[in-house]
Amino acid sequence: MKVWNIPDTSNNVDVPEEVDDDPLILITPSGVSLRDVTLGNLIVTDLDGEKMEGDGEPSSETGMHLEIYRKREDVEAIVHTHPPYATGFSFTDKKIPRFEGFGEIKAPYIAEIEYTVPGSIDLVESASDGLINEDVLLLRNHGVVTVGPDIFEAVLLAEFTESSAKTGFVIQVLGRK
Ligand SMILES: [Zn+2]
Repeated sequence: MKVWNIPDTSNNVDVPEEVDDDPLILITPSGVSLRDVTLGNLIVTDLDGEKMEGDGEPSSETGMHLEIYRKREDVEAIVHTHPPYATGFSFTDKKIPRFEGFGEIKAPYIAEIEYTVPGSIDLVESASDGLINEDVLLLRNHGVVTVGPDIFEAVLLAEFTESSAKTGFVIQVLGRK
């Protein structure tokens, strides 16, 4: 989540006054399950990934998030998950259908990039490039990245992607008419 000019009083995230004018990132800590993430244990970094606040280390995919923000000035939130259906698709040659709800239908299927090692500079480059013209991207043999103008939109798109993958799975199993 990108945060611009966090006020000192903002919730549990404490931001030093001297960096108030600089853009900051809130990102999940490494090794903490998403179900245990709260606003209080998010890590605050600057746009170079330098930790400003928080316990533990920022996510190992912080570099990918930062590069997406650099390439997409309209993006204010990024969600990266490994949901079972969409991730399952990423391990096959089957595609996830792009149903109505993804905005403008640019292609019949959700865009996908080739496999690169998680946390690697190759993933930083290929995922951020892949999201220049897309708001959803499937990472082969890995998971999903969604972006949005705020965290709610990015989460909604992530949920919609997983439900599309479920529907796509049923279509694959039962067969199209
Ligand atoms: Zn991942």
